[in-house]
Amino acid sequence: MTGQERSEEKSECVSLSPMMEADPALPESERVCVFGTGDLGHSLGLRLLQAGYGVVFGSRRPHSSSRLPHGAQVLGHAAAAQSAHLIFIAVQREHYDFLVPLANQLKGKVLVDLSNNLRKNQYPEANAEYLQSLVPGAEVVKGFNTLSAWSLQNGPSDANRQVYICGESAEAKEAVIAVATKLGLSALDRGSISVARELEDFPLQLFPQWRLPLRIAIGLSAAFFFYLLIRYVIYAYVTQGKDISFRIMVSLANQVCPIVSLIMLSLCYLPGVLASFLQLYRGTKYRRFPNWLDRWMLCRKQLGLLSLGFAFLHVLYTLIIPIRYSVMFWVTEHTVSLIRENRTTEFDTTTAWRSDSYLSLGILGFGLYVLLGITSLPSVSNALSWREFSFVQSKLGHLTLLLCTAHTYLYGWNRFLSSSTYKWYTPPGYMLCLVLPSVVLLLKLLLITPCVDRTITRIRQGWERGADQRNPKDSQPLIP
Ligand code: NAP
Repeated sequence: MTGQERSEEKSECVSLSPMMEADPALPESERVCVFGTGDLGHSLGLRLLQAGYGVVFGSRRPHSSSRLPHGAQVLGHAAAAQSAHLIFIAVQREHYDFLVPLANQLKGKVLVDLSNNLRKNQYPEANAEYLQSLVPGAEVVKGFNTLSAWSLQNGPSDANRQVYICGESAEAKEAVIAVATKLGLSALDRGSISVARELEDFPLQLFPQWRLPLRIAIGLSAAFFFYLLIRYVIYAYVTQGKDISFRIMVSLANQVCPIVSLIMLSLCYLPGVLASFLQLYRGTKYRRFPNWLDRWMLCRKQLGLLSLGFAFLHVLYTLIIPIRYSVMFWVTEHTVSLIRENRTTEFDTTTAWRSDSYLSLGILGFGLYVLLGITSLPSVSNALSWREFSFVQSKLGHLTLLLCTAHTYLYGWNRFLSSSTYKWYTPPGYMLCLVLPSVVLLLKLLLITPCVDRTITRIRQGWERGADQRNPKDSQPLIP
């Protein structure tokens, strides 16, 4: 034994007060060790204790560790390592070299590498691989790194229930999966240690599936905002010398929101329609869709939720119309001028019908919109069968698109034919936004016509066009 090892052992023995000794009553499988008493170590230790495990912390300063969860024990690293088979390493990768002198105590132990990095490719090898190279006698398992200290302390929500693990030893992974299950987490084995880098990159991703939909939403909002600004505010200033810039805050916003919402809802259903036509054209479902279509289909939920957000803003902006100063002013002014001129206006039944239908379709469309949003939440969609989910998202989704499109057509009403609508020869925003939903609805209509629908259904059940000619044996009856 070297002098350094002797002094380490001495310092560990010194740190062992009777209270701090590992509970010998618990079997080793019920005891878990956590190296590091920082944020993650503390939260993980707390959850492990709550799940019924005996927790032994390994710390550089076992005497002065003040923020440990009640019921945990704290020892020096070497003594703590001997108390359990499974050790969580809740220490930053930069400090992993402290494990090298502990190689003997860690031999045969399962080390769970929890570490993350600040950026992708920060180190030449994955942290878990680095850890394995430092302690070759141990079985390293990468995992739990996608959880946060905060979520562990607050109980896992749906999004935080899934943990990914990888490692070379199946036995070691089983031991980690058993702990995860007891903590109420669901562990997914992603394979060998070579996947560790991918798992370490997971927490660095910032809304990966929201990026494209967010860009589309921002791009559309900006484009339509400037388009409407020119058509209304600048047009009024240039042609009539009127300053109506105050309309930017509510009127313009209330035009941009429904436009973006309707276009994004169409973008949500367009890829499904395109995919159906592609399958029809190819006569098979066994060929991959192009990457751009795959990517587009994968972000339909985010497109839908963003479009719901814009629809919600449209509703809020519409509800505040009666309390706007400019509206109250014009209504009062109009009423006073009618009285002053001793005039009355005729009640127009057609306008009343149009206005009520327009509002009613908008309300129904928004109601279904909300239903689509609610059923896309994991906790709700998990409670539905696939058939129920696809009924809501596909059938009711297309119905929502139809109602919202009809709502917009009714808004336009007879203004489609009036030349004064086309300021500076440009169509208003609501007309532009009707193009895409109308195309999607027309294509969908084509797809549900019986002859096309029959072919699509057969293709989706595995039928392939031309397969009989390619392999004539397939078409021969089994019993002559
Ligand atoms: P932290 O709060 O900084 O705690 C790290 C702990 O490591 C310290 O409390 C200390 O415990 C120990 N330590 C520090 N320097 C050391 C050294 N030179 N030698 C040996 N031990 C040393 O960090 P953390 O937030 O808990 O994160 C720990 C690891 O988990 C990191 O790799 C991080 O990437 C990963 N992670 C963290 C979170 C999170 O939400 N915080 C989520 C996922 C993954 P003692 O003083 O007791 O020795």
